[in-house]
Amino acid sequence: MTRRFREDRLLVATHNAGKLEEIADLLAPYGVAVTGAQAHGLAVPEETEPDFEGNARLKARAAAQATGLAALSDDSGLEVAALDGAPGVNTADWAETGAGRDFGMAMRRVHDALIVAGAEEPWRARFCCALALVWPDGAETVVLGTAPGRIVWPMRGEHGHGYDPIFLPDGHDRTFAEMDRWAKNRLSHRADAFNQLIEKCFADDATGT
Ligand code: IMP
Repeated sequence: MTRRFREDRLLVATHNAGKLEEIADLLAPYGVAVTGAQAHGLAVPEETEPDFEGNARLKARAAAQATGLAALSDDSGLEVAALDGAPGVNTADWAETGAGRDFGMAMRRVHDALIVAGAEEPWRARFCCALALVWPDGAETVVLGTAPGRIVWPMRGEHGHGYDPIFLPDGHDRTFAEMDRWAKNRLSHRADAFNQLIEKCFADDATGT
């Protein structure tokens, strides 16, 4: 739904300080004061939904219900077409070793799965980022941002995080990990999602109550 955000505060349902800071910066031009989940002692709910939108909604709902504040949450990951959308909502889990996360291993798992599946190149893929904004009265705005591209092998680049070294965005010849932060941030699934949310809820011409 489209509705102009006029609350005093927005609770960002994340325990990740970097994410909180990034979201605070993105929303600062719209006069939104942002507060983090840690400040409210919120527990992180289990992500039990089959898609990114569902998990983002579940986290934002829990935070809004616990505090009475408007709450924003995100959920993101990588979908590989020839793997029927895997790793998808399990993107972070594919890096789990039992003793922390290893994204080198996770990227090898993606490549190995493509080889085992006999998938032909180009290996189409997209990063997704769902954002859910739950209002104090229970109304919900959910958007899905995407960055289309393909999986390349071997890994390329030193920047970024997660699966960036094997993701080549459409229309570019450098992987996300070969781009500097600013170049990637302009193209990313997160940027796409925030642009959609800002247009719906934070821009001056966003309509509604
Ligand atoms: P979450 O949204 O914090 O649950 O993150 C899901 C996982 O998706 C992260 O652990 C990363 O591995 C992966 N991911 C999300 N966005 C990106 C990105 O921009 N680059 C690389 N990996 C990403």
